[in-house]
Amino acid sequence: MEIVLKEKTTEEDFELFKFRCSRWQKFFGLINFVISYRHKKIDDDAQCAYSDSGKWAVITLSTEVNEYEHSDHFIKELALHEICELLISNLASMARLRFNYEEVEVAEHEIVMRLVNVLLSLEDKIFEDEDNRTNLIIQSVLDEEHKEIFGASKEI
Ligand SMILES: [Zn+2]
Repeated sequence: MEIVLKEKTTEEDFELFKFRCSRWQKFFGLINFVISYRHKKIDDDAQCAYSDSGKWAVITLSTEVNEYEHSDHFIKELALHEICELLISNLASMARLRFNYEEVEVAEHEIVMRLVNVLLSLEDKIFEDEDNRTNLIIQSVLDEEHKEIFGASKEI
């Protein structure tokens, strides 16, 4: 039997994870989701559970992750991964109703992995200065779109 050694994630890892998730959530304008976070032992390193109606999501960071992958970079990657799943959650939910669960999972992750790789390689540019003009412009466009789609903005 193969023994898989796991490494514990710390409270600091969890804080970084939550911070990264909410930053990407804002970046994508996924502000209609109310996200709550859990730090507990699960089989996967992280997980994103969501409602089909797109109202809420529960994102979990496992207290144990694969030993050799544990690093800040790995935590950042996990956070972006879960938010990308949220980004295509509506499409994935619909696909699961018609198609084989595993096949949808594979197709979903083809998109998620590409997004994660591209965005992580660009994140220094994207977030180089949280206050720079480009980000403010992107954010105001997202805020406007949000108002159009979901009505008056509400604080979450
Ligand atoms: Zn995944």
